[in-house]
Amino acid sequence: MTEKERILQEIEKNVRICSKCRLHSLAKNPVPGEGNLDAEIAFVGEAPGATEDETGRPFVGRAGKLLETALAKINLMREDVWIGNVIKHRPPENRDPLPDEISACMPYLTLQLRTIKPKLIVTLGRYSMGYFYPDGKISRDRGTLIKAGDYNIFPVYHPAAALRNPIMMKDFISDFIKIPGVLKKLDLAKETNQSFGLKTGEKGQQGFNF
Ligand code: SF4
Repeated sequence: MTEKERILQEIEKNVRICSKCRLHSLAKNPVPGEGNLDAEIAFVGEAPGATEDETGRPFVGRAGKLLETALAKINLMREDVWIGNVIKHRPPENRDPLPDEISACMPYLTLQLRTIKPKLIVTLGRYSMGYFYPDGKISRDRGTLIKAGDYNIFPVYHPAAALRNPIMMKDFISDFIKIPGVLKKLDLAKETNQSFGLKTGEKGQQGFNF
């Protein structure tokens, strides 16, 4: 077992016995996250839904099917990436997570991402974007590569929102197919130590549109 696998297993074990917020007693199963621990890309959503709560796996319902379809458009399968959520237990009736639940759960995702070290984090929906970039606005910042602290994030709409709204679906897919180009830019920027015109945004975040 690698050190990475050991740390991720330890995080998962802690999530399974966690009672730091009320959600552990309301959900059926924890959904710690899963995927390739050496992935270049991590996809981070908000919280488990009903199917995820039943199965203990992230993005396996209708939204998960759409995520898999979108991944196929960029020649990736879910096994190639890591997929998780900000919140590890399902909020009842899919209500929005409360601020105390988000702050109680945050350290798990932080530790997961610090261990996996993905090159790019694709945030799915506004809550996930807000975790990395609290001043962001999903309708304005989607499809934009943003330097948020130590992370390179690329916000897109949540697939569940895209399923409800045809305009958001169009934007979701058009943003998604930019992901390979975003990775190439990041590689090139690293090789040449250039910023590619990244402009400094509010509170030090940087971003540019594709
Ligand atoms: S949602 Fe997060 S903080 Fe709350 S009980 Fe589950 S793992 Fe713990």
